[in-house]
Amino acid sequence: MDFKEYIRVIPDFPQPGISFKDITTLLNDGDKYRQAIDEMKKMVSDLQIDLIAGPEARGFVVGAPLAYALGVGFVPIRKSGKLPYETIEVGYDLEYGKDTLAMHSDAIKPGQNVLIADDLLATGGTISTSVNLVKQLGGNIVGTAFLIELCELNGRAKLPDINVFSLMKY
Ligand code: 5GP
Repeated sequence: MDFKEYIRVIPDFPQPGISFKDITTLLNDGDKYRQAIDEMKKMVSDLQIDLIAGPEARGFVVGAPLAYALGVGFVPIRKSGKLPYETIEVGYDLEYGKDTLAMHSDAIKPGQNVLIADDLLATGGTISTSVNLVKQLGGNIVGTAFLIELCELNGRAKLPDINVFSLMKY
């Protein structure tokens, strides 16, 4: 199945030199969106998963339907200041810019098996920060799953000893 046909590549967005992979064209097609989530479900079918965690905002559109498909809970990872209850926070560098990610301090119980999902793996900054948050709460990372992996940026190097699953590679 070639999902790449459904990804729109935008040159020089949001900055010159960045070739942005627009997933909204995939999300716009109900059949393809569902097929993509179903394929991701197959990729992680060997894992024991208690919870899926996903960073805002595109990690929600991948992580939440995957959690629904697997029948497990979903933990939102958000930018600082958005979550209403007590949080833990970690700062990080983006492919372009800096930010802080936060998670509710009671979102994961020690020993729970957590899969982290996002739309795209670039430098790995977002996902390694998400890994740090989950680990701080005692969660056991069973893997990371993406619609898209930008192989040139070698985000996998920031995820040593962690399973990385991606549906499309560029
Ligand atoms: P990283 O932290 O791995 O450098 O960047 C990945 C994060 O930035 C993801 O949360 C993703 O949503 C966003 N991102 C970076 N580049 C792209 C892109 O080309 N397309 C999309 N859809 N998201 C991107």
